Amino acid sequence: MRDFSHFGGKQLLRITFALGMAFVFCGCGAPTGTVNADDSTASESTADKTPSVKKTTSSTRKPRRYELNMDSSPFNKLNEAEQYVILHKGTEPPGDGGYTLTKDPGTYICKRCNTPLYRAEDKFISHCGWPSFDDEIKDAVKRQRDADGYRIEIVCANCGGHLGHVFHGERLTPKNTRHCVNSISMKFIPEGKELPKPIKNPALKEKEKATSRKPEAAKVEKEEAKPTGK
Ligand SMILES: [Zn+2]
Repeated sequence: MRDFSHFGGKQLLRITFALGMAFVFCGCGAPTGTVNADDSTASESTADKTPSVKKTTSSTRKPRRYELNMDSSPFNKLNEAEQYVILHKGTEPPGDGGYTLTKDPGTYICKRCNTPLYRAEDKFISHCGWPSFDDEIKDAVKRQRDADGYRIEIVCANCGGHLGHVFHGERLTPKNTRHCVNSISMKFIPEGKELPKPIKNPALKEKEKATSRKPEAAKVEKEEAKPTGK
């Protein structure tokens, strides 16, 4: 234990104040739109980290679409760390996710809606710090331009939950694609175990209903698509 007895009372007060200010500024320095190591762990003990979740679920501003889905709540309940990443597009710290190095056979499903997203055989160790896949289960993953303007964000095609980002051209596997996925966005179901039933997004159900209400339109399209015999 270090001896501080040579400091006077005023000096000790100054040091305590300086340490306190440093702590406050470190917390403010973290980007607000990104969830990192500190956000998921420190949020439990640091009061100033938690409001972003409460703030974005507040009724004082117009909620985003995926928050509306959360409010209607047909999906699995998420804890705070899961909400940070899945609903608020955060990123878990590299290497901390439970699935970064897993190789067991099975299926990775969406934590929020149980939709099967990735097969273990498409997983590879990229050493980037997050679980990596070079292919997805057909139609399970939707790509969209990230808010940063240059990366491609990947979300669950059913519930819209944030998964991570997809990169091309790195030549890490023959498919030349890397889905960089947050472990916390997924749940691993080992081979041989029954997959839970996916929870269909009500908004997509409505869309499908609307499409099926227009059989005439579909018939015309089919007729037009018929080969002419030439
Ligand atoms: Zn989902």
